[in-house]
Amino acid sequence: MKKETEFMSINFLISQAKNIQKVIDENASEIEALDQNIGDGDHIFNIQRGLKLVIELEGTIKDLPLAKALNTIAMKVLSGIGGSSGALFGTFFISMAKSPDLDKDVNFSKACEMIIDGVKAMKERGKADVGEKTMMDVLIPVSEKLSEIKNNNSEMKQGLNEVIKIAEDRMLSTKDMLATKGRASFLGERAKGHIDPGARSSQLIIDTICKSVINQ
Ligand code: ADP
Ligand code: MG
Repeated sequence: MKKETEFMSINFLISQAKNIQKVIDENASEIEALDQNIGDGDHIFNIQRGLKLVIELEGTIKDLPLAKALNTIAMKVLSGIGGSSGALFGTFFISMAKSPDLDKDVNFSKACEMIIDGVKAMKERGKADVGEKTMMDVLIPVSEKLSEIKNNNSEMKQGLNEVIKIAEDRMLSTKDMLATKGRASFLGERAKGHIDPGARSSQLIIDTICKSVINQ
Protein backbone atom coordinates (compact mmCIF):
# COMPACT_ATOMS: atom_id res chain seq x y z
CA MET A 1 0.00 0.00 0.00
CA LYS A 2 1.14 3.51 -0.74
CA LYS A 3 2.32 5.35 2.33
CA GLU A 4 1.01 8.89 2.87
CA THR A 5 4.62 10.03 3.16
CA GLU A 6 5.70 8.77 -0.25
CA PHE A 7 5.58 12.09 -2.09
CA MET A 8 8.48 12.30 -4.52
CA SER A 9 9.39 8.64 -4.37
CA ILE A 10 10.73 7.42 -7.71
CA ASN A 11 7.48 5.50 -8.19
CA PHE A 12 5.53 8.68 -7.55
CA LEU A 13 7.63 10.65 -10.06
CA ILE A 14 7.35 8.07 -12.83
CA SER A 15 3.63 7.54 -12.35
CA GLN A 16 3.08 11.31 -12.42
CA ALA A 17 5.12 11.54 -15.63
CA LYS A 18 2.86 8.89 -17.18
CA ASN A 19 -0.31 10.73 -16.09
CA ILE A 20 1.10 13.99 -17.43
CA GLN A 21 2.08 12.38 -20.74
CA LYS A 22 -1.52 11.30 -21.28
CA VAL A 23 -2.91 14.77 -20.56
CA ILE A 24 -0.27 16.56 -22.66
CA ASP A 25 -0.94 14.19 -25.57
CA GLU A 26 -4.68 14.89 -25.30
CA ASN A 27 -3.98 18.63 -25.52
CA ALA A 28 -1.09 18.44 -28.00
CA SER A 29 -2.71 20.23 -30.92
CA GLU A 30 -3.79 23.13 -28.73
CA ILE A 31 -0.28 23.55 -27.24
CA GLU A 32 1.31 23.26 -30.67
CA ALA A 33 -0.98 25.98 -32.05
CA LEU A 34 -0.19 28.28 -29.11
CA ASP A 35 3.56 28.07 -29.80
CA GLN A 36 2.93 28.53 -33.52
CA ASN A 37 1.08 31.76 -32.66
CA ILE A 38 3.79 33.41 -30.57
CA GLY A 39 6.84 31.10 -30.67
CA ASP A 40 8.50 28.69 -33.09
CA GLY A 41 6.02 25.83 -32.71
CA ASP A 42 8.33 23.31 -31.01
CA HIS A 43 7.11 23.62 -27.42
CA ILE A 44 4.80 20.60 -27.60
CA PHE A 45 7.59 18.54 -29.15
CA ASN A 46 10.00 19.56 -26.36
CA ILE A 47 7.52 18.65 -23.63
CA GLN A 48 6.53 15.33 -25.22
CA ARG A 49 10.16 14.38 -25.75
CA GLY A 50 11.04 15.30 -22.16
CA LEU A 51 8.24 13.16 -20.77
CA LYS A 52 9.19 10.21 -22.97
CA LEU A 53 12.85 10.42 -21.92
CA VAL A 54 11.95 10.60 -18.22
CA ILE A 55 9.53 7.67 -18.45
CA GLU A 56 12.18 5.62 -20.26
CA LEU A 57 14.53 6.19 -17.32
CA GLU A 58 12.29 4.13 -15.03
CA GLY A 59 14.44 0.99 -15.15
CA THR A 60 17.70 2.94 -14.70
CA ILE A 61 16.60 4.99 -11.69
CA LYS A 62 14.12 2.80 -9.82
CA ASP A 63 16.66 1.47 -7.31
CA LEU A 64 18.75 4.63 -6.97
CA PRO A 65 18.69 6.92 -3.93
CA LEU A 66 16.23 9.77 -4.63
CA ALA A 67 18.92 12.48 -4.99
CA LYS A 68 20.76 10.42 -7.62
CA ALA A 69 17.52 9.61 -9.45
CA LEU A 70 16.53 13.29 -9.56
CA ASN A 71 19.97 14.21 -10.82
CA THR A 72 19.76 11.56 -13.56
CA ILE A 73 16.38 13.01 -14.60
CA ALA A 74 17.88 16.53 -14.59
CA MET A 75 20.79 15.53 -16.84
CA LYS A 76 18.49 13.71 -19.24
CA VAL A 77 16.15 16.70 -19.47
CA LEU A 78 19.04 19.15 -19.96
CA SER A 79 20.75 17.09 -22.64
CA GLY A 80 17.66 15.70 -24.35
CA ILE A 81 15.25 18.63 -24.64
CA GLY A 82 15.87 21.73 -26.67
CA GLY A 83 14.57 25.22 -26.19
CA SER A 84 13.89 27.24 -23.10
CA SER A 85 11.85 24.40 -21.60
CA GLY A 86 14.83 22.02 -21.48
CA ALA A 87 17.03 24.50 -19.63
CA LEU A 88 14.25 25.57 -17.25
CA PHE A 89 12.88 22.13 -16.33
CA GLY A 90 16.45 20.78 -16.13
CA THR A 91 17.20 23.53 -13.62
CA PHE A 92 14.09 22.58 -11.66
CA PHE A 93 15.25 18.95 -11.29
CA ILE A 94 18.85 19.95 -10.43
CA SER A 95 17.48 22.06 -7.60
CA MET A 96 15.26 19.20 -6.38
CA ALA A 97 18.23 16.80 -6.46
CA LYS A 98 20.21 19.17 -4.23
CA SER A 99 17.51 19.34 -1.55
CA PRO A 100 18.83 18.19 1.85
CA ASP A 101 17.68 15.01 3.64
CA LEU A 102 16.36 13.21 0.57
CA ASP A 103 17.38 9.91 2.15
CA LYS A 104 14.51 10.39 4.63
CA ASP A 105 10.81 10.10 3.74
CA VAL A 106 9.52 13.03 1.72
CA ASN A 107 6.22 14.15 3.25
CA PHE A 108 3.85 16.72 1.76
CA SER A 109 5.53 19.67 3.45
CA LYS A 110 8.99 18.61 2.25
CA ALA A 111 7.64 18.04 -1.28
CA CYS A 112 6.24 21.61 -1.24
CA GLU A 113 9.63 22.90 -0.12
CA MET A 114 11.36 21.09 -3.00
CA ILE A 115 8.94 22.53 -5.56
CA ILE A 116 9.23 26.05 -4.09
CA ASP A 117 13.05 25.91 -4.29
CA GLY A 118 12.87 24.42 -7.79
CA VAL A 119 10.66 27.25 -9.07
CA LYS A 120 13.00 29.79 -7.44
CA ALA A 121 15.93 28.23 -9.34
CA MET A 122 13.95 28.43 -12.61
CA LYS A 123 13.16 32.07 -11.93
CA GLU A 124 16.86 32.81 -11.41
CA ARG A 125 17.84 30.85 -14.53
CA GLY A 126 15.30 32.42 -16.90
CA LYS A 127 15.21 35.82 -15.19
CA ALA A 128 11.47 36.07 -15.81
CA ASP A 129 9.02 37.26 -13.18
CA VAL A 130 5.24 37.36 -13.07
CA GLY A 131 3.75 39.51 -15.84
CA GLU A 132 6.25 38.64 -18.59
CA LYS A 133 4.01 36.11 -20.40
CA THR A 134 5.90 32.89 -19.66
CA MET A 135 5.38 29.68 -17.71
CA MET A 136 6.58 31.63 -14.65
CA ASP A 137 3.19 33.40 -14.63
CA VAL A 138 1.78 30.05 -13.56
CA LEU A 139 4.68 28.57 -11.61
CA ILE A 140 5.50 31.53 -9.33
CA PRO A 141 1.94 32.02 -7.98
CA VAL A 142 1.58 28.24 -7.55
CA SER A 143 4.84 28.17 -5.61
CA GLU A 144 3.65 31.07 -3.43
CA LYS A 145 0.42 29.22 -2.69
CA LEU A 146 2.34 26.05 -1.76
CA SER A 147 4.44 28.12 0.60
CA GLU A 148 1.27 29.48 2.24
CA ILE A 149 -0.23 25.98 2.55
CA LYS A 150 2.98 24.67 4.09
CA ASN A 151 3.46 27.55 6.52
CA ASN A 152 -0.16 27.56 7.69
CA ASN A 153 -0.31 23.78 7.84
CA SER A 154 -3.48 24.02 5.72
CA GLU A 155 -5.58 21.00 4.84
CA MET A 156 -3.86 19.39 1.84
CA LYS A 157 -6.81 18.63 -0.43
CA GLN A 158 -8.41 22.03 -0.05
CA GLY A 159 -5.04 23.66 -0.61
CA LEU A 160 -4.44 21.68 -3.79
CA ASN A 161 -7.88 22.63 -5.13
CA GLU A 162 -6.87 26.27 -4.64
CA VAL A 163 -3.58 25.57 -6.46
CA ILE A 164 -5.53 24.15 -9.43
CA LYS A 165 -7.64 27.30 -9.59
CA ILE A 166 -4.66 29.67 -9.33
CA ALA A 167 -2.80 27.81 -12.11
CA GLU A 168 -5.82 28.09 -14.39
CA ASP A 169 -6.45 31.79 -13.67
CA ARG A 170 -2.79 32.67 -14.16
CA MET A 171 -2.51 30.66 -17.37
CA LEU A 172 -5.51 32.56 -18.77
CA SER A 173 -4.05 35.87 -17.57
CA THR A 174 -1.10 35.49 -19.99
CA LYS A 175 -3.49 36.01 -22.91
CA ASP A 176 -3.61 39.78 -22.67
CA MET A 177 0.01 40.30 -21.68
CA LEU A 178 2.84 41.70 -23.73
CA ALA A 179 5.80 39.31 -23.69
CA THR A 180 9.05 40.66 -22.32
CA LYS A 181 10.99 37.35 -22.20
CA GLY A 182 11.47 34.51 -24.67
CA ARG A 183 10.75 34.44 -28.40
CA ALA A 184 7.31 36.04 -28.01
CA SER A 185 9.01 39.25 -26.83
CA PHE A 186 10.01 39.95 -30.47
CA LEU A 187 6.34 40.23 -31.42
CA GLY A 188 5.46 43.32 -29.38
CA GLU A 189 1.72 44.05 -29.46
CA ARG A 190 1.14 41.05 -31.75
CA ALA A 191 1.72 38.68 -28.82
CA LYS A 192 -1.46 40.01 -27.21
CA GLY A 193 -4.55 37.85 -27.56
CA HIS A 194 -2.63 34.56 -27.31
CA ILE A 195 -2.12 32.39 -24.23
CA ASP A 196 1.55 31.55 -23.62
CA PRO A 197 2.27 27.90 -24.58
CA GLY A 198 4.59 27.31 -21.61
CA ALA A 199 1.95 28.69 -19.24
CA ARG A 200 -0.61 26.27 -20.70
CA SER A 201 1.66 23.20 -20.51
CA SER A 202 2.73 24.08 -16.96
CA GLN A 203 -0.90 24.56 -15.91
CA LEU A 204 -1.82 21.15 -17.35
CA ILE A 205 1.10 19.54 -15.50
CA ILE A 206 0.07 21.15 -12.18
CA ASP A 207 -3.58 20.29 -12.74
CA THR A 208 -2.71 16.63 -13.39
CA ILE A 209 -0.43 16.22 -10.35
CA CYS A 210 -2.83 18.00 -7.97
CA LYS A 211 -5.85 15.98 -9.12
CA SER A 212 -3.93 12.73 -8.80
CA VAL A 213 -2.79 13.56 -5.25
CA ILE A 214 -6.29 14.72 -4.26
CA ASN A 215 -7.80 11.45 -5.51
CA GLN A 216 -5.26 9.18 -3.83
P1 ADP B 1 11.85 28.06 -27.14
O1 ADP B 1 11.15 29.32 -26.83
O2 ADP B 1 13.32 28.13 -26.92
O3 ADP B 1 11.46 27.53 -28.48
P2 ADP B 1 10.00 26.21 -25.92
O4 ADP B 1 9.19 26.34 -27.14
O5 ADP B 1 10.27 24.83 -25.45
O6 ADP B 1 11.38 26.99 -26.05
O7 ADP B 1 9.28 26.94 -24.72
C1 ADP B 1 8.64 28.16 -24.88
C2 ADP B 1 8.13 28.61 -23.54
O8 ADP B 1 9.22 28.84 -22.67
C3 ADP B 1 7.39 29.92 -23.59
O9 ADP B 1 6.05 29.70 -23.92
C4 ADP B 1 7.57 30.47 -22.18
O10 ADP B 1 6.55 30.00 -21.32
C5 ADP B 1 8.86 29.82 -21.72
N1 ADP B 1 9.95 30.79 -21.61
C6 ADP B 1 10.64 31.37 -22.59
N2 ADP B 1 11.62 32.15 -22.08
C7 ADP B 1 11.53 32.07 -20.74
C8 ADP B 1 12.24 32.64 -19.63
N3 ADP B 1 13.28 33.47 -19.79
N4 ADP B 1 11.86 32.30 -18.37
C9 ADP B 1 10.82 31.46 -18.19
N5 ADP B 1 10.12 30.89 -19.19
C10 ADP B 1 10.46 31.19 -20.44
MG1 MG C 1 9.46 27.06 -29.01
